[in-house]
Amino acid sequence: MTDIEPIRFADVADRRPLVIAGPCSAETREQTLETARRLAAGGFRIFRAGLWKPRTKPGGFEGVGSEGIDWLRQVKHETGMYVATEVATAHHAEAVLGSGIDLLWIGARTTANPFAMQEIADALQGHDIPVLIKNPVNPDLELWIGAVERIRNAGIRRIGVIHRGFTPIARSGYRNHPMWSIPIELRHRFPELQIFCDPSHIGGRRELIAPLSQQAMDLGFDGLFVETHCNPDEAWSDRLQQVAPETLAQIVGELAIRETTAATDDLDRLRTEIDKIDDRLLELLAERMRVACEIGRCKKEHGMPVLQARRYEELLSRRTAQAAELGMDRAFMRSVLQAIHEESVRQQMRILDEK
Ligand code: PEP
Ligand code: MN
Repeated sequence: MTDIEPIRFADVADRRPLVIAGPCSAETREQTLETARRLAAGGFRIFRAGLWKPRTKPGGFEGVGSEGIDWLRQVKHETGMYVATEVATAHHAEAVLGSGIDLLWIGARTTANPFAMQEIADALQGHDIPVLIKNPVNPDLELWIGAVERIRNAGIRRIGVIHRGFTPIARSGYRNHPMWSIPIELRHRFPELQIFCDPSHIGGRRELIAPLSQQAMDLGFDGLFVETHCNPDEAWSDRLQQVAPETLAQIVGELAIRETTAATDDLDRLRTEIDKIDDRLLELLAERMRVACEIGRCKKEHGMPVLQARRYEELLSRRTAQAAELGMDRAFMRSVLQAIHEESVRQQMRILDEK
Protein backbone atom coordinates (compact mmCIF):
# COMPACT_ATOMS: atom_id res chain seq x y z
CA MET A 1 0.00 0.00 0.00
CA THR A 2 2.81 2.33 -0.95
CA ASP A 3 0.41 5.00 -2.22
CA ILE A 4 -0.77 5.73 1.32
CA GLU A 5 0.14 9.12 2.74
CA PRO A 6 0.32 10.24 6.36
CA ILE A 7 -2.23 12.47 8.07
CA ARG A 8 -0.47 15.81 7.97
CA PHE A 9 -1.74 19.34 8.41
CA ALA A 10 0.33 22.15 6.89
CA ASP A 11 0.60 24.23 10.08
CA VAL A 12 0.80 21.37 12.60
CA ALA A 13 4.35 20.39 13.60
CA ASP A 14 5.25 17.07 12.06
CA ARG A 15 6.90 15.52 15.10
CA ARG A 16 6.10 12.74 17.52
CA PRO A 17 3.67 12.45 19.09
CA LEU A 18 1.01 13.93 16.87
CA VAL A 19 -1.81 14.30 19.38
CA ILE A 20 -5.53 14.14 18.68
CA ALA A 21 -7.55 14.95 21.80
CA GLY A 22 -11.07 15.74 22.86
CA PRO A 23 -14.07 14.28 24.62
CA CYS A 24 -15.40 10.79 24.11
CA SER A 25 -18.70 12.46 23.23
CA ALA A 26 -19.74 15.95 22.28
CA GLU A 27 -22.43 16.47 24.94
CA THR A 28 -23.35 20.13 24.72
CA ARG A 29 -22.08 23.09 22.75
CA GLU A 30 -20.57 24.53 25.95
CA GLN A 31 -18.76 21.35 27.01
CA THR A 32 -17.39 20.86 23.48
CA LEU A 33 -16.15 24.43 23.24
CA GLU A 34 -14.70 24.63 26.72
CA THR A 35 -12.74 21.41 26.21
CA ALA A 36 -11.46 22.68 22.85
CA ARG A 37 -10.49 26.12 24.18
CA ARG A 38 -8.48 24.59 27.01
CA LEU A 39 -6.82 22.10 24.66
CA ALA A 40 -5.93 24.91 22.24
CA ALA A 41 -4.46 26.89 25.15
CA GLY A 42 -2.22 23.88 25.85
CA GLY A 43 -0.97 23.90 22.25
CA PHE A 44 -3.04 20.98 20.95
CA ARG A 45 -4.09 21.36 17.33
CA ILE A 46 -6.39 18.44 16.47
CA PHE A 47 -9.71 17.96 18.24
CA ARG A 48 -11.79 14.79 18.46
CA ALA A 49 -15.39 14.41 19.63
CA GLY A 50 -17.85 11.57 19.05
CA LEU A 51 -21.24 12.63 17.66
CA TRP A 52 -22.68 9.15 17.11
CA LYS A 53 -21.78 6.88 20.01
CA PRO A 54 -21.83 3.09 19.63
CA ARG A 55 -23.00 1.78 23.01
CA THR A 56 -22.98 -1.80 24.17
CA LYS A 57 -26.54 -1.65 25.49
CA PRO A 58 -29.54 0.46 24.50
CA GLY A 59 -30.79 3.19 26.75
CA GLY A 60 -27.49 5.03 27.33
CA PHE A 61 -26.41 8.32 25.77
CA GLU A 62 -26.03 7.58 22.06
CA GLY A 63 -24.58 10.90 20.99
CA VAL A 64 -26.04 14.18 19.79
CA GLY A 65 -25.80 13.20 16.12
CA SER A 66 -25.57 15.72 13.29
CA GLU A 67 -26.62 18.56 15.59
CA GLY A 68 -23.05 18.53 16.92
CA ILE A 69 -21.48 19.18 13.51
CA ASP A 70 -22.08 22.86 14.03
CA TRP A 71 -20.38 22.75 17.46
CA LEU A 72 -17.29 21.28 15.80
CA ARG A 73 -17.44 23.98 13.15
CA GLN A 74 -17.47 26.54 15.95
CA VAL A 75 -14.43 24.86 17.57
CA LYS A 76 -12.62 25.15 14.27
CA HIS A 77 -13.61 28.75 13.79
CA GLU A 78 -12.81 29.91 17.32
CA THR A 79 -9.67 27.93 18.10
CA GLY A 80 -8.23 27.17 14.65
CA MET A 81 -8.05 23.50 15.62
CA TYR A 82 -8.67 20.75 13.08
CA VAL A 83 -11.72 18.68 14.00
CA ALA A 84 -12.39 14.95 13.83
CA THR A 85 -15.37 12.71 14.44
CA GLU A 86 -16.34 9.04 14.16
CA VAL A 87 -18.47 7.71 11.33
CA ALA A 88 -20.10 4.32 11.69
CA THR A 89 -22.53 4.30 8.76
CA ALA A 90 -22.72 5.70 5.24
CA HIS A 91 -25.36 8.09 6.54
CA HIS A 92 -22.89 9.53 9.09
CA ALA A 93 -20.25 9.88 6.39
CA GLU A 94 -22.68 11.73 4.12
CA ALA A 95 -23.69 14.05 6.97
CA VAL A 96 -20.07 14.93 7.72
CA LEU A 97 -18.60 15.23 4.20
CA GLY A 98 -18.41 18.82 3.04
CA SER A 99 -19.43 20.11 6.47
CA GLY A 100 -15.98 21.41 7.45
CA ILE A 101 -14.93 18.34 9.47
CA ASP A 102 -11.23 17.76 8.71
CA LEU A 103 -10.68 14.17 9.70
CA LEU A 104 -12.78 11.02 10.19
CA TRP A 105 -12.20 7.94 12.24
CA ILE A 106 -13.77 4.51 12.05
CA GLY A 107 -14.58 2.85 15.39
CA ALA A 108 -13.51 -0.61 16.51
CA ARG A 109 -16.97 -2.15 16.15
CA THR A 110 -17.29 -0.83 12.61
CA THR A 111 -13.85 -2.08 11.49
CA ALA A 112 -14.98 -5.56 12.57
CA ASN A 113 -17.88 -5.44 10.09
CA PRO A 114 -16.87 -5.66 6.41
CA PHE A 115 -20.36 -4.68 5.12
CA ALA A 116 -20.42 -1.51 7.21
CA MET A 117 -16.84 -0.74 6.13
CA GLN A 118 -17.72 -1.16 2.47
CA GLU A 119 -20.76 1.10 2.77
CA ILE A 120 -18.66 3.81 4.39
CA ALA A 121 -15.93 3.36 1.79
CA ASP A 122 -18.54 3.76 -0.98
CA ALA A 123 -19.85 6.94 0.65
CA LEU A 124 -16.30 8.35 0.80
CA GLN A 125 -15.54 7.57 -2.86
CA GLY A 126 -14.34 10.68 -4.66
CA HIS A 127 -13.78 12.72 -1.49
CA ASP A 128 -10.40 13.84 -0.26
CA ILE A 129 -10.52 13.55 3.51
CA PRO A 130 -8.06 11.83 5.85
CA VAL A 131 -9.34 8.71 7.64
CA LEU A 132 -8.06 6.89 10.74
CA ILE A 133 -9.11 3.28 11.20
CA LYS A 134 -9.27 1.75 14.66
CA ASN A 135 -8.39 -1.90 15.13
CA PRO A 136 -11.37 -4.28 15.19
CA VAL A 137 -12.56 -5.34 18.67
CA ASN A 138 -11.28 -8.87 17.99
CA PRO A 139 -7.55 -9.48 17.53
CA ASP A 140 -7.70 -10.09 13.78
CA LEU A 141 -4.93 -8.28 11.92
CA GLU A 142 -6.26 -9.30 8.49
CA LEU A 143 -9.67 -7.77 9.26
CA TRP A 144 -7.93 -4.52 10.26
CA ILE A 145 -5.86 -4.54 7.06
CA GLY A 146 -8.98 -5.35 5.04
CA ALA A 147 -10.71 -2.27 6.42
CA VAL A 148 -7.70 -0.13 5.48
CA GLU A 149 -7.77 -1.61 1.97
CA ARG A 150 -11.48 -0.83 1.53
CA ILE A 151 -10.86 2.82 2.38
CA ARG A 152 -7.82 2.97 0.14
CA ASN A 153 -9.75 1.35 -2.72
CA ALA A 154 -12.27 4.18 -2.39
CA GLY A 155 -9.47 6.54 -3.46
CA ILE A 156 -8.63 7.90 0.00
CA ARG A 157 -4.87 8.38 0.26
CA ARG A 158 -4.34 9.98 3.67
CA ILE A 159 -4.91 6.98 5.94
CA GLY A 160 -3.68 6.09 9.42
CA VAL A 161 -4.61 3.51 12.03
CA ILE A 162 -5.47 3.71 15.72
CA HIS A 163 -4.50 0.95 18.10
CA ARG A 164 -7.17 0.83 20.83
CA GLY A 165 -6.66 -2.68 22.15
CA PHE A 166 -8.74 -5.86 21.86
CA THR A 167 -11.62 -7.23 23.92
CA PRO A 168 -9.94 -9.31 26.62
CA ILE A 169 -11.06 -12.90 27.13
CA ALA A 170 -10.06 -12.82 30.79
CA ARG A 171 -9.78 -10.02 33.35
CA SER A 172 -6.52 -8.33 32.54
CA GLY A 173 -6.38 -4.91 34.20
CA TYR A 174 -6.97 -3.31 30.81
CA ARG A 175 -10.33 -2.41 29.37
CA ASN A 176 -9.01 -3.62 26.03
CA HIS A 177 -5.91 -5.74 25.93
CA PRO A 178 -3.05 -4.01 24.06
CA MET A 179 -1.61 -7.16 22.39
CA TRP A 180 1.22 -4.96 21.13
CA SER A 181 2.48 -7.67 18.77
CA ILE A 182 -0.49 -6.96 16.46
CA PRO A 183 0.27 -3.27 15.74
CA ILE A 184 3.98 -4.17 15.62
CA GLU A 185 3.25 -6.73 12.90
CA LEU A 186 1.13 -4.15 11.07
CA ARG A 187 4.03 -1.66 11.18
CA HIS A 188 6.34 -4.35 9.88
CA ARG A 189 4.07 -5.13 6.94
CA PHE A 190 3.00 -1.58 6.11
CA PRO A 191 5.70 0.80 7.39
CA GLU A 192 4.03 3.66 5.51
CA LEU A 193 0.90 3.54 7.73
CA GLN A 194 0.93 6.07 10.55
CA ILE A 195 0.01 4.46 13.87
CA PHE A 196 -1.77 6.26 16.70
CA CYS A 197 -2.26 4.77 20.15
CA ASP A 198 -5.52 5.29 22.05
CA PRO A 199 -4.45 4.84 25.69
CA SER A 200 -7.92 5.81 26.93
CA HIS A 201 -9.70 2.85 25.38
CA ILE A 202 -6.83 0.43 26.02
CA GLY A 203 -6.50 1.31 29.70
CA GLY A 204 -10.07 2.24 30.55
CA ARG A 205 -8.61 4.20 33.48
CA ARG A 206 -7.02 7.62 33.40
CA GLU A 207 -3.97 6.46 35.46
CA LEU A 208 -2.96 4.24 32.55
CA ILE A 209 -2.87 7.02 29.95
CA ALA A 210 0.71 8.13 30.79
CA PRO A 211 2.37 4.68 30.95
CA LEU A 212 0.56 3.42 27.83
CA SER A 213 1.49 6.58 25.92
CA GLN A 214 5.12 6.11 26.91
CA GLN A 215 5.02 2.49 25.76
CA ALA A 216 3.55 3.56 22.43
CA MET A 217 6.31 6.14 21.97
CA ASP A 218 8.98 3.57 22.84
CA LEU A 219 7.52 1.28 20.18
CA GLY A 220 7.82 4.05 17.58
CA PHE A 221 4.13 4.93 17.24
CA ASP A 222 3.51 8.24 15.49
CA GLY A 223 0.71 9.71 17.55
CA LEU A 224 -1.74 9.57 20.42
CA PHE A 225 -5.52 9.68 20.39
CA VAL A 226 -6.67 10.60 23.87
CA GLU A 227 -10.07 11.24 25.41
CA THR A 228 -10.01 14.61 27.12
CA HIS A 229 -12.90 16.36 28.85
CA CYS A 230 -13.32 19.75 30.52
CA ASN A 231 -14.84 17.96 33.51
CA PRO A 232 -13.91 14.26 33.21
CA ASP A 233 -15.78 13.03 36.28
CA GLU A 234 -19.05 14.39 34.89
CA ALA A 235 -18.61 12.98 31.37
CA TRP A 236 -21.70 11.33 29.88
CA SER A 237 -19.64 8.45 28.45
CA ASP A 238 -16.27 6.84 29.29
CA ARG A 239 -15.87 8.99 32.41
CA LEU A 240 -13.06 6.95 33.97
CA GLN A 241 -10.70 7.12 31.02
CA GLN A 242 -10.78 10.84 30.27
CA VAL A 243 -8.41 13.51 31.58
CA ALA A 244 -8.65 17.29 31.74
CA PRO A 245 -6.82 19.18 28.96
CA GLU A 246 -4.20 20.47 31.44
CA THR A 247 -3.49 16.92 32.66
CA LEU A 248 -3.01 15.79 29.08
CA ALA A 249 -0.55 18.64 28.47
CA GLN A 250 1.43 17.49 31.48
CA ILE A 251 1.38 13.83 30.38
CA VAL A 252 2.56 14.70 26.88
CA GLY A 253 5.20 17.09 28.24
CA GLU A 254 6.68 14.34 30.40
CA LEU A 255 6.96 11.72 27.65
CA ALA A 256 10.48 10.63 26.79
CA ILE A 257 10.76 10.67 23.01
CA ARG A 258 13.74 8.64 21.90
CA GLU A 259 14.58 9.33 18.27
CA THR A 260 18.16 8.14 17.89
CA THR A 261 18.44 5.36 15.35
CA ALA A 262 22.23 5.24 14.80
CA ALA A 263 23.78 2.27 16.61
CA THR A 264 26.65 2.73 19.05
CA ASP A 265 29.61 0.34 19.51
CA ASP A 266 28.00 -1.10 22.64
CA LEU A 267 24.80 -1.77 20.77
CA ASP A 268 26.64 -3.38 17.87
CA ARG A 269 28.45 -5.72 20.25
CA LEU A 270 25.24 -6.67 22.07
CA ARG A 271 23.44 -7.28 18.80
CA THR A 272 26.21 -9.62 17.66
CA GLU A 273 25.77 -11.46 20.94
CA ILE A 274 21.99 -11.71 20.42
CA ASP A 275 22.51 -12.98 16.87
CA LYS A 276 24.73 -15.77 18.17
CA ILE A 277 22.15 -16.73 20.80
CA ASP A 278 19.45 -16.76 18.10
CA ASP A 279 21.63 -19.10 16.02
CA ARG A 280 21.80 -21.50 18.95
CA LEU A 281 18.08 -21.15 19.66
CA LEU A 282 17.21 -22.01 16.06
CA GLU A 283 19.53 -24.99 16.00
CA LEU A 284 17.99 -26.26 19.24
CA LEU A 285 14.47 -25.76 17.93
CA ALA A 286 15.30 -27.68 14.76
CA GLU A 287 16.76 -30.43 16.92
CA ARG A 288 13.63 -30.47 19.06
CA MET A 289 11.39 -30.73 15.99
CA ARG A 290 13.45 -33.63 14.71
CA VAL A 291 12.96 -35.49 18.01
CA ALA A 292 9.25 -34.60 18.03
CA CYS A 293 8.94 -36.21 14.60
CA GLU A 294 10.65 -39.34 15.87
CA ILE A 295 8.17 -39.43 18.75
CA GLY A 296 5.42 -39.02 16.14
CA ARG A 297 6.66 -42.11 14.26
CA CYS A 298 6.84 -44.02 17.53
CA LYS A 299 3.25 -43.07 18.44
CA LYS A 300 2.08 -44.12 14.99
CA GLU A 301 3.80 -47.47 15.30
CA HIS A 302 2.11 -48.12 18.64
CA GLY A 303 -1.28 -46.78 17.59
CA MET A 304 -1.17 -43.93 20.14
CA PRO A 305 -3.00 -40.62 19.58
CA VAL A 306 -0.84 -37.58 18.79
CA LEU A 307 -2.13 -35.41 21.63
CA GLN A 308 -1.13 -36.61 25.07
CA ALA A 309 -2.96 -34.03 27.18
CA ARG A 310 -1.54 -35.05 30.57
CA ARG A 311 2.03 -34.93 29.37
CA TYR A 312 1.41 -31.52 27.77
CA GLU A 313 -0.11 -30.10 30.96
CA GLU A 314 2.84 -31.38 33.00
CA LEU A 315 5.31 -29.91 30.57
CA LEU A 316 3.56 -26.52 30.61
CA SER A 317 3.41 -26.23 34.38
CA ARG A 318 6.95 -27.50 34.98
CA ARG A 319 8.51 -25.22 32.37
CA THR A 320 6.53 -22.09 33.31
CA ALA A 321 7.62 -22.59 36.92
CA GLN A 322 11.20 -23.01 35.77
CA ALA A 323 10.90 -19.84 33.66
CA ALA A 324 9.71 -17.91 36.71
CA GLU A 325 12.73 -19.16 38.67
CA LEU A 326 14.96 -17.91 35.86
CA GLY A 327 13.38 -14.46 36.12
CA MET A 328 11.15 -14.75 33.06
CA ASP A 329 7.47 -14.06 32.74
CA ARG A 330 5.24 -17.14 33.09
CA ALA A 331 2.71 -15.97 30.51
CA PHE A 332 5.49 -15.32 28.02
CA MET A 333 6.91 -18.82 28.52
CA ARG A 334 3.45 -20.32 28.25
CA SER A 335 2.90 -18.77 24.85
CA VAL A 336 6.36 -19.85 23.62
CA LEU A 337 5.69 -23.43 24.73
CA GLN A 338 2.22 -23.37 23.20
CA ALA A 339 3.63 -22.25 19.86
CA ILE A 340 6.31 -24.94 19.93
CA HIS A 341 3.81 -27.60 20.94
CA GLU A 342 1.37 -26.55 18.24
CA GLU A 343 4.06 -27.02 15.59
CA SER A 344 5.11 -30.40 17.06
CA VAL A 345 1.49 -31.59 16.91
CA ARG A 346 1.21 -30.36 13.32
CA GLN A 347 4.34 -32.29 12.35
CA GLN A 348 3.15 -35.44 14.12
CA MET A 349 -0.25 -35.24 12.41
CA ARG A 350 1.56 -35.01 9.07
CA ILE A 351 3.50 -38.18 9.94
CA LEU A 352 0.28 -39.94 10.93
CA ASP A 353 -1.19 -39.08 7.51
CA GLU A 354 1.83 -40.46 5.63
CA LYS A 355 1.17 -43.74 3.87
C1 PEP B 1 -14.24 6.39 20.76
O1 PEP B 1 -13.11 6.69 20.33
O2 PEP B 1 -14.93 7.15 21.43
C2 PEP B 1 -14.76 5.03 20.55
C3 PEP B 1 -16.07 4.76 20.50
O3 PEP B 1 -13.80 4.14 20.48
P1 PEP B 1 -13.75 2.57 20.07
O4 PEP B 1 -14.31 2.48 18.71
O5 PEP B 1 -12.26 2.35 20.11
O6 PEP B 1 -14.47 1.80 21.12
MN1 MN C 1 -14.99 6.64 24.28
